[in-house]
Amino acid sequence: MTKEICKTCSKEFVIRDEDLVFYEQVKTVPPIYCPECRMARRLLFRNERILYKRPCDLCKKDMITLYSPESLYKVYCHDCWWSDDWNPKSFGRDYDFSKTFFEQYKKLQKEVPRLGLAAFKNIQSDYTNGSAENKDCYLIFASDYNEECLYSRLLQRDKQCVDCAFLHESELCYECIDCRKCFKCMFSEQCRDSSDLLFCYNMRNSQNCILSTNGRNASNSILNIKYTKEEFEKKKKEILKDYESIEKAKKEFVELKKNTIRKFTMQTKCHNVTGDYIHNCYDGVELFDTFDAKNCSYMKDTEKPIDSMDCNNYYYNPHFGYNIMGALEGSMLRNSAFVFYSNEVDYCDMCYNLANAIGCISIRKGNYMILNKEYEKESFDKLRTQIIAEMKKEKDYGQFFPPEIAPFAYNESLINDFYPLTKDEAIKRGYRWQEKTTGTYGKETIKNEDIPKSISGVDENILDEILVCSDCNKNYKIIRAELEFYKRINLPLPQKDFECRHNDRMKKRNGMKLYHRSCMKEGCTNEFETTYAPDRPEIIYCESCYQQEVY
Ligand SMILES: [Zn+2]
Ligand SMILES: [Zn+2]
Ligand SMILES: [Zn+2]
Ligand SMILES: [Zn+2]
Repeated sequence: MTKEICKTCSKEFVIRDEDLVFYEQVKTVPPIYCPECRMARRLLFRNERILYKRPCDLCKKDMITLYSPESLYKVYCHDCWWSDDWNPKSFGRDYDFSKTFFEQYKKLQKEVPRLGLAAFKNIQSDYTNGSAENKDCYLIFASDYNEECLYSRLLQRDKQCVDCAFLHESELCYECIDCRKCFKCMFSEQCRDSSDLLFCYNMRNSQNCILSTNGRNASNSILNIKYTKEEFEKKKKEILKDYESIEKAKKEFVELKKNTIRKFTMQTKCHNVTGDYIHNCYDGVELFDTFDAKNCSYMKDTEKPIDSMDCNNYYYNPHFGYNIMGALEGSMLRNSAFVFYSNEVDYCDMCYNLANAIGCISIRKGNYMILNKEYEKESFDKLRTQIIAEMKKEKDYGQFFPPEIAPFAYNESLINDFYPLTKDEAIKRGYRWQEKTTGTYGKETIKNEDIPKSISGVDENILDEILVCSDCNKNYKIIRAELEFYKRINLPLPQKDFECRHNDRMKKRNGMKLYHRSCMKEGCTNEFETTYAPDRPEIIYCESCYQQEVY
């Protein structure tokens, strides 16, 4: 184990012996930035939710895209980008050793057209990104195989769910986070195999519960006390009566959760790992929102990765990946963004079926390529070795793209979700800031106080109104599918726009920082790494104390 000082934040960080073995395996050099600063660089490459309307630079038709109309890049719609009407290899150029790699890369970046949106095989779901195989969905992100879902992030195989995040195989849920196989649940967190839950936390195999926590096989429970079905229905009606009664229950739930015993991490079937929100992971540190990982560390939003480090949004069995934002399958992927079904690539962006490449953009199939130009194997190998030797001299090689290469501004990219900065702070640290993102202000046609407090008073005319967010004053609208959903489950209209609702939801989850703490059960001396900061009010137990208490 060695200790290093991060070249960005000047904090000390650790490089473990197994990290060094890994760097050798993927043919790279040890990092000069701490895990947090490495993650930040990658997040800057991901605009997940800020959508714009602008014309495609090829067919000139309007499209929904991640790039603002003022963006420096050429942007193509899905059909044009994939068409034979242009050739990304025509932008190929010779490598110039009198200039740095990133100078040349940046120039290429301004010329090669980019894919407007990362959305595939969706049906009637234009306003989604990082998405595939969705049907009739609206404003859902990083989500696959859903039907009729709205305003959500990270949904997998859900149906008719609205305002949810990290939700799997569920139906008719509203405002749920980290739930799996749930039906008709609302305002609930970390629940599984349950139905008709309202303001519940960490329930399993439970039905008809309100304001209950850590329940197993519970039914008709209110505040963890068993009632009759009639009493449950009465209480449910009372809470869902109108906007105010729901707001009151929200506050009650926050207090209830403070006094609830919690496991130090949301880990299931894991062995020898640290991190949170993880399942079936073996051997690694700092894993977040990761499933089925073997021998991986410093990962976020990944599924089935093997022998990889520092990867985000990395799916379908990729292995030997390092410093990656966005990949499907592939191996020996280094320092790249959105590289799909590719092998042995360095510093590539938005490429498919690419092998043996460095510094390529928007390639759809290629081999032995540098700056979008194709080579014979021998000359490629020679040139690649020379380029990497030069980059190593500048300490550029082995680190993810520097922030000035990022295609998005600070407040457009996911970095703003995890490490929020004000405009002034971001600019001071050298990041770009997007002045005009989407949306309007001051155009509302109805005030919040004039919105009916219960859904029974709302009719179709609301679809023509422009509402105003009670938090940020941004305008928003109610769409038909949404109104039908609220009517169906008897919910009042929201009084915040979808961005503020999303932010409120994300605040309920823990961050990606780990703290070394000990179990709070009296007499227990077990220690662990947890995302619960020491000053948090919750009661945090080790695995075995938690099992004794809850199972
Ligand atoms: Zn740092
Ligand atoms: Zn087009
Ligand atoms: Zn807002
Ligand atoms: Zn304990």
